[in-house]
Amino acid sequence: MPDSSYFDVIILGAGAAGLMCGLTAASRSKSVLIIDLSDKPGKKILISGGGRCNFTNLNVTPENYLSSNPNFCNSALSRYTQYDFIDLVERHKIAYHEKTLGQLFCDGKSSQILNMLLEECTGRGVKIFLNTTVLEISKSDVFKVETTQGYFTCSSFVVASGGLSIPKMGATGFGYEIAKKFGLNIIEPFPGLVPLTFEKKVLNTFSDLPGVASDAIVSNGKISFKEAVLFTHKGLSGPAILQISSYMKPGDSVHINFFPDKNLKDLLMEKRKNEPKSDIPTILSEAVPKRLALKMASFHGLNKKCGEINNHLIETYSEKLTKWQFQTESNEGFDKAEVTCGGVDTNELSSKTFECRSVKGLYFIGEVLDVTGWLGGYNFQWAWSSGYAAGNAV
Ligand SMILES: Cc1cc2nc3c(=O)[nH]c(=O)nc-3n(C[C@H](O)[C@H](O)[C@H](O)COP(=O)(O)OP(=O)(O)OC[C@H]3O[C@@H](n4cnc5c(N)ncnc54)[C@H](O)[C@@H]3O)c2cc1C
Repeated sequence: MPDSSYFDVIILGAGAAGLMCGLTAASRSKSVLIIDLSDKPGKKILISGGGRCNFTNLNVTPENYLSSNPNFCNSALSRYTQYDFIDLVERHKIAYHEKTLGQLFCDGKSSQILNMLLEECTGRGVKIFLNTTVLEISKSDVFKVETTQGYFTCSSFVVASGGLSIPKMGATGFGYEIAKKFGLNIIEPFPGLVPLTFEKKVLNTFSDLPGVASDAIVSNGKISFKEAVLFTHKGLSGPAILQISSYMKPGDSVHINFFPDKNLKDLLMEKRKNEPKSDIPTILSEAVPKRLALKMASFHGLNKKCGEINNHLIETYSEKLTKWQFQTESNEGFDKAEVTCGGVDTNELSSKTFECRSVKGLYFIGEVLDVTGWLGGYNFQWAWSSGYAAGNAV
């Protein structure tokens, strides 16, 4: 009589990484149980990409990931690539399109990606227990897992419980607690891909701008992103801001160039020659939304006619406007962060199998690790690649 409480693999978390790991392990004839405290699997998949799931990116490279151990992601990303996942999506006849910058979205709904993963799992006999909490986990020759649904044992225990972002979607720090229990190091988690906030004084200065969006190059002096910036009631958001936020600490400042495709100096020179009576705010509003142009002019003292400015002033204004510095206070925190930066220290794991060096049979995958992707499908690709690597090793 087989022991019904024994599984080759127990996976904590029925999210993107856990489901990919489960279906991969089951395809190698492993018995797999996935445990999740939520009432539904893959909740973040369902809300992702505005309901259309940006499931990968055509341009995935290790450079699109942040980690204090930058080479760790290379192996998994190269062994299960964006094209492997696209192949799976195509086999399930899910229509998709490239939106921008290599980002692939479903033509239909995110639920198609979740249903695909669930079909692959259940078709291979993976069991999924929802509304289930792990109460205790210990290791002797096997792992003993006490849950609200009873005791289970397994040879491999995979932590795929994600990060801290969006607690109302089921995010918990339990993965970090397990890591600590087994003596692993944690790189302090912090919110990533998150809107930035201004302190009250700065907020008052820009109080007429919420809702204004403009293409820009945003930089922190080390890395820059060219995408849209959006002024909000709390500070700044939009894709370029979310991207740079993962590289910032609270209180850092960013430089924004709202003229990413224009040489402002040449524009002002040309206007001075051909339309000397034009005022500068009007000229700026040819390139950026009018409200932003008016704010730029008042903020930098540019309420002048074009013919009134000499070459030196053109230089000065161009410099100020293309390196406009915004002092941030902080960010909107884990409630609004799309991902968690930091996490379980990857130096503790094999980059090939994701097994802990010090605890045989214990694996960590997905967002719980100190590997964070850019905005644009990179985080799901990390979940697929790391889930596949561990699924092949358990
Ligand atoms: C609003 C939003 C939109 C996003 N859109 C995109 C996108 O379009 N493209 C992209 O690449 N990335 C996107 N992301 C990021 C992406 O969703 C995550 O990086 C990815 O889901 C991480 O996968 P994971 O499996 O590691 O963790 P998760 O998907 O978070 O799964 C973790 C699972 O573990 C469960 N769990 C947690 N704690 C416990 C516990 N104590 N016991 C049992 N179960 C537990 C959770 O309920 C959850 O089901 C988005 C994130 C958010 C918040």
